[in-house]
Amino acid sequence: DISLEVRNLKKYFNTPKGYLHAVDNVNFSIQTGKTLGVVGESGCGKSTLGRVVLHLLDSTDGQILFHGEDVTHVDKAKLRTLREDMQIIFQDPYSSLNPRMSVSEIIMEPLLLKGGISRAEMYKETKRLMDTVGLAERLENSYPHELDGGRRQRIGIARALALNPKFIVCDEPVSALDVSIQAQVLNLMLDLQEERGLTYLFITHDLSVVKYFSDDIMVMYLGQVVEKAPSDELFASP
Ligand code: ADP
Ligand code: ADP
Repeated sequence: DISLEVRNLKKYFNTPKGYLHAVDNVNFSIQTGKTLGVVGESGCGKSTLGRVVLHLLDSTDGQILFHGEDVTHVDKAKLRTLREDMQIIFQDPYSSLNPRMSVSEIIMEPLLLKGGISRAEMYKETKRLMDTVGLAERLENSYPHELDGGRRQRIGIARALALNPKFIVCDEPVSALDVSIQAQVLNLMLDLQEERGLTYLFITHDLSVVKYFSDDIMVMYLGQVVEKAPSDELFASP
């Protein structure tokens, strides 16, 4: 069962120097519950690819299929359901989190915006999510800047899980963390994947992280895929 399939996907930016081919004819598919690692040096198009897949950026050309459905071009209603099913976890959750919101407010916000749920149910769900990602209940009224990077990333993960997504773009989720904390967060993400059958598009510049984490690996260079293979094949000793 394929979660995401991308065919001949292109994203060009119109720049003063002409069209920049940030994503240049990219093809891949990810089985449900699996992880595709996307690696490559800074500027090769990883983030742009993740954002186009999530409709945070419009594609220039190509096709995006989500669980067999063509979602390349969608109307507002469809976009809303896609935004629930497909989430993103950023490198530095702090930069994407509102500093004036408390931990519980940040995690609750997607539920609040979606609506159709009582306040009591929302608080209960928020507590459940905090527990799921290993955030102590006493932190609910803390602010992100009071917490270390690992806990801040746990807030980002809890928020991404709030609407029960099937698919998550992980954009350098551990790159801003101390090495000792990286393994903890990666293990949490692996546990969540197993429990919830999540599919990950895992973006990183760090080969050791992707080796640890991915089923398949795709290497990008100047917007193009230059290598694609199962992780154990790519890292097999000769
Ligand atoms: P990566 O995530 O691999 O570091 P990006 O996807 O951020 O790469 O960027 C790919 C290329 O597209 C880079 O050359 C970057 O400068 C360019 N780029 C990204 N966003 C824009 C934009 N909004 N306008 C113009 N160029 C962009
Ligand atoms: P990341 O690679 O983590 O996305 P960047 O610093 O490359 O972070 O990009 C931050 C923001 O700036 C993104 O929204 C990206 O689309 C935009 N951006 C990146 N490069 C360019 C560029 N050359 N021109 C305009 N916007 C850009």
